[in-house]
Amino acid sequence: MSVRVRFAPSPTGFMHVGNARTALFNYLFAKHNRGKFILRIEDTDLERHSEEAVKVIYEALKWMGIKWDEGPDVGGNYGPYRQSERREIYKEHIEKLKEKGLVYECFCTTEELEKMRKEQLERGEPPRYTGKCRNLTEEEKEKLRKEGRKPVLRFKVPKDRIIKFKDLVKGEIEISSNQLGGDFVIVRSNGMPVYNFVVVVDDALMEISHVIRGEDHISNTPKQILLYEALGFKVPQFAHLPMILGSDRSKLSKRHGATSVKEFKEKGYLPEAFVNFLALLGWYPKDGKEVLSMEELIERFEIKDVNSAPAVFDTTKLNWLNQVYIRQYPLNKLTELTIPYLKKAGLNPENFPREWLEKVIGVVREYFTTLSDAPKYAELFLRDDIEIEPEALKFLQEEPKRVEVIKLFYEKLKGLNGEIEQESFKALVKEVGKELKAKGKNLFMPIRIGITGKTSGVELPILAELLGKERLIKRLERSLSQLKEIA
Ligand code: GLU
Repeated sequence: MSVRVRFAPSPTGFMHVGNARTALFNYLFAKHNRGKFILRIEDTDLERHSEEAVKVIYEALKWMGIKWDEGPDVGGNYGPYRQSERREIYKEHIEKLKEKGLVYECFCTTEELEKMRKEQLERGEPPRYTGKCRNLTEEEKEKLRKEGRKPVLRFKVPKDRIIKFKDLVKGEIEISSNQLGGDFVIVRSNGMPVYNFVVVVDDALMEISHVIRGEDHISNTPKQILLYEALGFKVPQFAHLPMILGSDRSKLSKRHGATSVKEFKEKGYLPEAFVNFLALLGWYPKDGKEVLSMEELIERFEIKDVNSAPAVFDTTKLNWLNQVYIRQYPLNKLTELTIPYLKKAGLNPENFPREWLEKVIGVVREYFTTLSDAPKYAELFLRDDIEIEPEALKFLQEEPKRVEVIKLFYEKLKGLNGEIEQESFKALVKEVGKELKAKGKNLFMPIRIGITGKTSGVELPILAELLGKERLIKRLERSLSQLKEIA
């Protein structure tokens, strides 16, 4: 049997990490089994769906490196791939159920249904639709229609049926048809077919072999199985992925911070790190190797290894992975991705030669967790209009010799023949230390402050070499004149 799976998001304008994980697991499963990954847009339930919201889905998937074999924009033999374009197909299948006498019109109002529910709860019974409209006569229906009531269409749930399926993650699942809440709605009073119905028609006609989706849909599965059978379709295999919890073990939500793919992208996570992290939400490779590229994930991914227990979203782990990827990323690509963050922070990376900028990124990447941390470190290289920070100033003023260190270092640097390199920088610092009998913090910190205005940052010799003599001199002059003004 050829493997065909689908990712079927609703265009809400937002791609939640849970959805992104579902897309990824479907993709990994499809590619591992040399099957097809299909993108279907579930836009029937929505009052309005904008092109913008569909674009959000495309962009999130593309950013993650997930390519679909069939979908609204790329086409395929099983289209259309947007539910809003499949209305005729749904109508046809509703007709089939009507012909088979498996559905009926229900005219109950919201108030009547609410009353039914209340009474059942009072009697200690689980709420369910009683089937009140199952046997209405034509005259009765006509009368209700005349009252202006618009019927919904309900599916007749058979009595005393045990519905069984083997979930590839959760194992054997069994439920009685009596526990499904009674005959359920498949077409709303406005004529819109509901999710449980359209998803079955689509999955069957698109020949989906495995339905892999979030655990929140597991309660829909028995109803869907009944519909597959009613329509004479083959039931696919199901795999329900574990929930994703926040660090406090409650369902992952806004409260826990970023939850949409776009937010993670904007914060400066690399797509490879994000994907790697998502793959580990509920799945773990047998060989224990945690840092895995998409190809390596595809190679290792087995649906049977997905854990049925909830997965905890551990930001520390995501950060760790991001650091790992940042440090091993091709420098030109990393620089490209970092530039927008530098610009946003008011730095002007375009004023510097690209080759030099790459060297800078090569140095500072050791220090940052996400790309949005980059400006903080890159600033040391890109901004010459430094100001001595209050804390740094306080440090210099505590000990007169500290300012002397900056002055002497400045003099010596001016007298240096040729460009400055890490070694010559170290030698100069050493000479200054010897002459002024300064060492450790009293030696290095003043020089750092003189060059950067700050008390911390990247390693000085590397910074000095990359800045070059001329810019170092200018910065030291600027600092010294600031110190003079204060003195
Ligand atoms: N549109 C549904 C969702 O986003 C799809 C559920 C399914 O995969 O069946 O949750």
